[in-house]
Amino acid sequence: MPVKNKTDRKFIVVTGGVLSGLGKGVAAASIGNLITKAGLKVIPIKCDGYLNVDPGTMNPVEHGEVFVLDDGGEVDMDFGHYERFLNVTCKFKWNLTMGKVYESIRKKERRGDYLGKTVQLIPHVSDLIKEWFFEIGKEENADVVMIEVGGTVGDIENELYIEACRQLKRNVGEENILYIHLTYIPIPGHVGEQKSKPTQQSVALLRERGIEPDVIIGRCSEYLDEKIKKKISTFCGVDEKAVITGIDVDSVYKLPLSFSKEGINDIIKKELGIESGVKPEWKKLVDNLSKLDKEVTVAICGKYTELDDSYASIVEALKHCSANLKVKVNVKMVETTDINSPADAKKLLKGISGVIVPGGFGSRGTEGKIKVIQYCRESNIPFLGICLGLQLAVAEFARNVCGLKGANSTELDSKTKHPVVDILPEQKNIKDKGGTMRLGAYPALIKPNTLIWELYGKQKEVSERHRHRYEVNPEYHDILLKNGLIFSGMSPDRKLVEFFELPKNKHKYFVGTQAHPELKSRFEKPAPLFYGLVKACLEK
Ligand code: GLN
Repeated sequence: MPVKNKTDRKFIVVTGGVLSGLGKGVAAASIGNLITKAGLKVIPIKCDGYLNVDPGTMNPVEHGEVFVLDDGGEVDMDFGHYERFLNVTCKFKWNLTMGKVYESIRKKERRGDYLGKTVQLIPHVSDLIKEWFFEIGKEENADVVMIEVGGTVGDIENELYIEACRQLKRNVGEENILYIHLTYIPIPGHVGEQKSKPTQQSVALLRERGIEPDVIIGRCSEYLDEKIKKKISTFCGVDEKAVITGIDVDSVYKLPLSFSKEGINDIIKKELGIESGVKPEWKKLVDNLSKLDKEVTVAICGKYTELDDSYASIVEALKHCSANLKVKVNVKMVETTDINSPADAKKLLKGISGVIVPGGFGSRGTEGKIKVIQYCRESNIPFLGICLGLQLAVAEFARNVCGLKGANSTELDSKTKHPVVDILPEQKNIKDKGGTMRLGAYPALIKPNTLIWELYGKQKEVSERHRHRYEVNPEYHDILLKNGLIFSGMSPDRKLVEFFELPKNKHKYFVGTQAHPELKSRFEKPAPLFYGLVKACLEK
């Protein structure tokens, strides 16, 4: 028997229909955001159907950014939205994957937990999934557990999650569960009218699986009209008031406001008996978005540029700066593979106010990035290097300032004469690829009176998240320092360069970090290094 649920804990199940990519994660996070207004603790759980244990081994172009948590978990990028909208620090355990589910079932079976039984998808796997939900709710003392089922109803790989969510109602009582189904309302050009059929069909699929939605969110480019709401209500068996628009927005941070306007708070109150609404601080920042009186353009120079989601958290961090500084921040993705000289970089970066070189793996495009960095350093263009970006900036500085010809990272050139970036000693003998990088939150001691120290509010110690195997080689620390690079943040054992900068009299903003500060950036509190970059872009 699954663990009994605390009777007043609420569960919200979010499923999707018709199409993938409708923004289920953002919708769930937005609704959770409204619920946190009254101080309730909303804990998100995301169920992914794939057989990987986590997305850590997937290519970002295929799956979007790999999000990293404080605890070192590599998780679905929706957790970025959850952290930004719910103000929680998420945990690895909250991302279920079929890889983890089957791994756990097999372990239990070998241990003898099911002795004498035939282990089956139902009830054993569905029970395990439910236990997971209950356990997380209990461990976190959640008021509301928000469960997002990945994919689209009808996908084979998600059937067990849907089944577990169906059973949940009997375990927790119908007064404690709300089923939300997100669908798509097309407006075909030749008829120019909002169409409900795909929604009807996807709700039929959901009903076949025993789930009757309480709320239908229709993603649409227009607000849903009364006629279509009535139709969906009749055909899908939901209250007319519970059919709400998931309007296309130019900023996802507007979604809590638009769901509120559409009446979601009344439904939540009626169905679950809890209060929700827009937080005033949130609204203030959203209002700022219509008062952007300055404009800058930041280039993200990477190699995963064909998919915007590859750098999702970086783009979000820039949006946070935009709302807080009231600056329009345009983002330009720049592919670096064909850049062969600082002059090439200059041409490509025409009109750009600042540059980010983001994280990455493997050598493609890295020489181009080094040229970009050289151009930024020599031309006083604000620059932020993140992880691989820091490593390449160190290689550039070593080559062109310290005179170490061909300096490089051994990840990119194993035979380099000057391995200024090298594998971390503890990484040398690791063979397995999954979940073995230096992952998660690590502290850094900050050097007083540096730019980084100012930006982090003069804190002695800061913590940021990491995902890497390489580091600045300690054997080259002295020569880099002697040539004017400032190590503004070091690991507590002083071995690892966590932050560097160039002095303010040499450069407006030339900063690098081994961490990924974008992962902790919030709408209400932009990550300091991004804030610093955008501010530097505004400087004349
Ligand atoms: N490939 C580099 C390393 O493993 C950088 C990783 C990153 O940018 N996240 O150290």
